[in-house]
Amino acid sequence: MSTPGNRVLLKHHLEKLRLPTIRREWEGVANSCAKDGRNYGDFLLQLTERELIEREQRAAQRRIKSARFPVIKTLEDFDFPAQSSINETLVRQLATGEYLDARENVLLIGNSGTGKTHLASALGFVACSQGKRVRLWSATALVTHMLEMREARELKRFFTQMDKHDLLILDELGYVPFSKAGAELLFEVISRAYERLSLIVTTNLPFEQWIEVMGSERLTGALLDRLTHRVHIIEANGESYRLKDARKRYRNPKRDERHPGGTPRRPPGSSPSRQPKEPDQPNT
Ligand code: ADP
Ligand code: MG
Repeated sequence: MSTPGNRVLLKHHLEKLRLPTIRREWEGVANSCAKDGRNYGDFLLQLTERELIEREQRAAQRRIKSARFPVIKTLEDFDFPAQSSINETLVRQLATGEYLDARENVLLIGNSGTGKTHLASALGFVACSQGKRVRLWSATALVTHMLEMREARELKRFFTQMDKHDLLILDELGYVPFSKAGAELLFEVISRAYERLSLIVTTNLPFEQWIEVMGSERLTGALLDRLTHRVHIIEANGESYRLKDARKRYRNPKRDERHPGGTPRRPPGSSPSRQPKEPDQPNT
């Protein structure tokens, strides 16, 4: 095998070339290729494959981080039978990512706790692993952020950044009404996204109530027109998963023994202060 001096040089070259996986693994692969009588071509192929795989994994991790999911949720941990109102076939079809290439939108409508944020994040997570650039915003936080950016005369920069994405997730539209300026900025986001990138919007509001949040009939009409031009609608009309889960725990208190030190769970709805709450979902 190579001399110590050559090893140092090789390490240096691989660092310069930014090939950390090859730098870390070349000796092991060289040894196993020598043992199996593999040729130099096979050796190089194995190494470059490992470098490529790791590079893709690192890039996906970076995309996931910059998407700012409140919690990582996946389709694997979504219990479809528990929420039979949700069209599983459609969700699975969306997970192929075709809607992103077609710049189509997804609207998740339904009452609180039915898994809308979970599914939106899970679809965003899949998109990250498919090489797409994703960003999740709570609708309220996005509007507040844009108002601040406008104040700082940085809106243009914000929109340029936004254009670089493939998917924008607007979570929980409808919980808080917007100011006139806020509604106009939200409209701007949606018109700008139109046919440029895909939007996933989660909301508890049926269409006829959007006017109350946007404050203007004209703006709401124009917004819905763009949002729903090419849209997949997922309706979630079942019972809140949180409530159901809490109720199950109450009926089956032994489950609590698995959470020593946790607060004892109480029947949901028995008093307002006893409503089950999730610390990781502050906006629901
Ligand atoms: P929503 O956004 O509709 O209010 P969430 O997506 O925040 O609801 O769901 C509330 C909590 O319940 C989350 O922790 C979510 O992961 C969980 N949850 C909801 N529906 C399901 C489901 N069908 N399977 C597994 N977990 C679920
Ligand atoms: Mg939600």
